[in-house]
Amino acid sequence: MTTRRHFIAATGAVLLGGPALLRARSPDADPFALGVTAGDPAADGFVIWTRLAPRPLELHGGMPMTPLPVTWQVAEDSAFTRVAASGETVARPELGHSVHVEVQRLKPDRSYWYRFESGGAMSRIGHARTLPLPGSRPAAIRFGVAGCQNYEQGYYTAFRHLAGEDLAFVYHYGDFIYEGASRPTGPAPTPWGTTLQNVRSHLGQACYTLGDYRQRYSQYLTDTDLADARARHVWLASFDDHEVANNWADSIDPAGTPPEIFAMRRQAALQAWYEFMPVRRASLPAGAEAAMYRRFAVGDLLSVNVLDTRQYRSDQPCGDGFKPGCPEVASPTAQMLSEAQEKWLLDGLRSGGARWNCIAQQVMMMPLDRRGTPDAPEPVLNLDSWAGYRAPRERLMRALHGVDNVVVLTGDEHRHFVGELNDDRGPVGVELVCTSISSGGDGSDRRADTDMLLANNPQLKFVGDQRGYLVCDVARDGWTSRLMVVDQVSEPGAPVSTRLRVEVAAGEPRVRVA
Ligand code: FE
Ligand code: CA
Repeated sequence: MTTRRHFIAATGAVLLGGPALLRARSPDADPFALGVTAGDPAADGFVIWTRLAPRPLELHGGMPMTPLPVTWQVAEDSAFTRVAASGETVARPELGHSVHVEVQRLKPDRSYWYRFESGGAMSRIGHARTLPLPGSRPAAIRFGVAGCQNYEQGYYTAFRHLAGEDLAFVYHYGDFIYEGASRPTGPAPTPWGTTLQNVRSHLGQACYTLGDYRQRYSQYLTDTDLADARARHVWLASFDDHEVANNWADSIDPAGTPPEIFAMRRQAALQAWYEFMPVRRASLPAGAEAAMYRRFAVGDLLSVNVLDTRQYRSDQPCGDGFKPGCPEVASPTAQMLSEAQEKWLLDGLRSGGARWNCIAQQVMMMPLDRRGTPDAPEPVLNLDSWAGYRAPRERLMRALHGVDNVVVLTGDEHRHFVGELNDDRGPVGVELVCTSISSGGDGSDRRADTDMLLANNPQLKFVGDQRGYLVCDVARDGWTSRLMVVDQVSEPGAPVSTRLRVEVAAGEPRVRVA
């Protein structure tokens, strides 16, 4: 056990006289300005994360290009009187002085508090939870779902409310950053009849280099609502398209960049993703690939299969977009997950260890007809979603007929959707598409196409276009999700409310909404 005084003295001594120490001691240059977070929970620990950056928006975060020691503590209480684990690690310039500590040997299913120290400066205190033991039989668990947080398009009020929820963990479905340059501020009409006006601006041009992506993540983390939600919860991080480039697919850039050139941008982007996310060393990128799909067990109650629907998929068919499909939609060689990931998913689902089988992924699995006008002659598909990848989708639906209690959690759409997954043999599970934290701006409960979507898609039970997040209560006999919405995101401080309660009874792949 390390006392607080020893904790500070140990690292202070190493850094005495160094330029980092001088900067770290300046009250306006907190080396922990990017905050702290935790992720990838297990029954015996989790990852704790921070990043030394006294001037986060500058090149190298204002850090000297040398490795620096960082000490850490994990305690059973927020006053750190009962320290459960502590140690020292190295913040390396190669990884932007980010720190990922895989804390082990903690007790299952309980809260911990953690903090870091470097150069005499102490970080804020973060909170994390371990998961229940794999063999245990939990009665219930509550977790959150969030993502799609365009910095320009709205305030992070939903993160403020999410930070106040009591959650075992939060699944993040990606679009943590948006890679584009600042778009001109509005007010501009959206295609769906609302008005979009930027509330703040991205720094710099579109992200291409590691430095660009680092600056973009850092800018997002200057938001205190996001920083507080990161410090309060333990996260299951993933990524979607905007961590790299809009609608990328494997080595294919929709802008037509040669794949071997795009691979360089993808490598920079995924390195930055790793640097800023509380993920395990197993996700450290090797070249342009970051291993991201992985599984979490909540006792025997819930298995969470986090998928990667970007790195291994084939190109979007028919030139991508929202439009009628073409024969390419039915390509038998199309992949959404890759053969290896699909096998990993199905092996996990069929092992039958969990009461509830959650598939936590990014793009919509329901092949919805998106026609928005009555005179549209044929179904319109979102070709970036599973609707554009018929063969892998049908393979998965067939496989899910043998799996009990499947709930798919999805992002990307910037709208809440609730519906059922099925094929010609019948229903196989439920899909809950979570809206966005801020992307798309204020939105509204209904859009012009709401009634038509519901009429053209009988498996769809609800659609809503306000910003927010999900709270999921999983019990042995039923799954309840609350669709949380904030009134608006164009001004800070909006209240949050429950727009809809969604209930799924165990043993029945149907959804009831109230
Ligand atoms: Fe998004
Ligand atoms: Ca997306």
